[in-house]
Amino acid sequence: MGLNQTMTRVSAFAVKALTEEMKNLKVKFDRAAYRKKYDATYFKKKTRCPNCGELRVKHMLKRHMQTKKCQRAADRLRSA
Ligand SMILES: [Zn+2]
Repeated sequence: MGLNQTMTRVSAFAVKALTEEMKNLKVKFDRAAYRKKYDATYFKKKTRCPNCGELRVKHMLKRHMQTKKCQRAADRLRSA
């Protein structure tokens, strides 16, 4: 009975430690895989600029809209 109890306690501890370890591994793995997939799709998404109609990568659109070229197009749109 004494041995059995000790075994149970040990294995329970081992399982808990293993679970923690797996959790950490899984989080790290998932995050890397997620980032990779996310970047692959997100950084390729293109969209048309509402001001000048140019096709731009979406995450660069804000920066593009700060350019003189695009702002001139926006002014033209507003005055037209
Ligand atoms: Zn533009």
